[in-house]
Amino acid sequence: MEGAAAARIQDPQRLRALWDLRLLDTPTEAAFDRLAKLAARVLNTPVALVSLVDRNRQFFKSCIGLPEPWSRWRETPLSHSFCQHVVATGNPLIVPDARQSPDLRDNRAIAELDVVAYLGCPMILPNGQVIGSFCVIDSKPRNWSDADAAIVRDLTASVMTEIELRHIHDQLEERVRERESLYRELVELAADGIFVSDEHGRLVEVNQAGCELLGYTRAQVLQRTLVDLLPPEDRIADPPRLDILRDGRTFIRERRLLRHDGAVVPVEVHVKQLSGRRIQGIVRDITERQRHEREREAMVRELTARNADMENFIYTISHDLKTPLVTIAGFASLISKDLEEGDFAKSRVSLDEIHKAVAEMGKHIQDLLLLTRIAHVPVEKKSVLLDELVRSLLKVHQPRFEQAGAHTRLLNKLPTVTADPTDITRVFNNLLDNALKYRRPDVAPVIEIGAERIDQEWRLYVRDNGQGIKPEYQQRIFGLFQRADSRIEGTGVGLAISKRVIEAHGGRMWVESVPGEGSTFWIGLPASLDVESGGGA
Ligand code: ADP
Repeated sequence: MEGAAAARIQDPQRLRALWDLRLLDTPTEAAFDRLAKLAARVLNTPVALVSLVDRNRQFFKSCIGLPEPWSRWRETPLSHSFCQHVVATGNPLIVPDARQSPDLRDNRAIAELDVVAYLGCPMILPNGQVIGSFCVIDSKPRNWSDADAAIVRDLTASVMTEIELRHIHDQLEERVRERESLYRELVELAADGIFVSDEHGRLVEVNQAGCELLGYTRAQVLQRTLVDLLPPEDRIADPPRLDILRDGRTFIRERRLLRHDGAVVPVEVHVKQLSGRRIQGIVRDITERQRHEREREAMVRELTARNADMENFIYTISHDLKTPLVTIAGFASLISKDLEEGDFAKSRVSLDEIHKAVAEMGKHIQDLLLLTRIAHVPVEKKSVLLDELVRSLLKVHQPRFEQAGAHTRLLNKLPTVTADPTDITRVFNNLLDNALKYRRPDVAPVIEIGAERIDQEWRLYVRDNGQGIKPEYQQRIFGLFQRADSRIEGTGVGLAISKRVIEAHGGRMWVESVPGEGSTFWIGLPASLDVESGGGA
């Protein structure tokens, strides 16, 4: 075959178009065989072919009447092909006797396939690419009539319709498959749980995230209804209202779901009615979000409380610092007067008063520094053996306790917790000091220290049989500069600091007290701080 014709056979675009049809090397099919048989019968030829011309062979999608082994192989090399000429020219090829044709007489199809007369029409795709030839063949010479040529042309058109329909169908199916796998990926890889139920609430579809959210397998989810996924108390109090879902509107709400392991998960659900009255729920775990919200609220509460403290603080500190200042100013002018009069003894008395006032100011300023430190320095946490800590504090205070005739008792073993040792020491010092300071004059002080574990909290206490605190003061004394008894010396700062320290450890502080009988100061620490029970740092 000469150059230009060969180039048309080898044209990559033509070959690509042929291969894309996915007809090469596929089994015979009734639709093509019917058309080939029809051609052979109507034109009374022994052979009819649907021949697809590939790069170096022709493949027969249909071959009626071809001798063996060709009909079994269903292909020949191009050396045995008349059809390649149809493809190369894009025109019908009408050969009455190939043995007489200078172009064809050497073609091996004559000797090996018994091809003498040939009538073939090009199979042309809508894009103009010629993929092969639909042909009839006779083993003896034949003068093809125009009517013969017209029949082959019409049947070729039918073959092409068949091929195109098939191709369009394939492409459609492929597109559907692609879309399906895209949607499946979208659903399966979604971070949110996606649930679909029928109109009665029976679950019919769930994605991976949905299964993980609930701790169920897919099969387990599909055996359940929407109601089954709720905690028992919500099933009656707040069942799913599928009847209010209309018109594809989305309802967004928060709910609680029951996990396989019995845990309850807070979720946000977007509910929507799909076609076929199915219901879709997109479900997001909001455990973390709720935790952040709670933390933020706690922080706002804390900041508000600190602001109030601060206002109180500024007010009181200016008042408290002013009092000794006024005292100092007063005695200073007395001293000038006494000095003028040469009364050194009197000025010494005044000087003593000034010293006292300065000491008082110094204490206020020290408390002030301590408070700002507690407000800013983060707790340094390590294992604190509370039992040892309290025992050694009691030893330190022992002389004072003895002097006051006080009895101290450590009622049970205190836990070891993860805490800031300096801060915790400060708290116990403050409580022990107060227990002694606010004793009843006529009763020997008894101070008891102990611990109870209640659920997730360690409750430590310091109990006294002192003067007690009136109910209206029991909360207030934890505020800055708040005091219930002005007869006894103090600044009203100790409990405020203690409470802050305990709260910085995630705990709480409160008092139970009966006036005239005594008080119990409680320190509640989260059990997670307990080193032995596995909490720890
Ligand atoms: P301060 O002892 O310097 O006044 P605190 O903050 O330690 O400051 O205590 C605040 C107030 O709480 C005290 O002034 C006192 O009225 C009351 N209080 C504290 N501990 C006891 C106690 N164990 N018994 C009775 N009242 C107490």
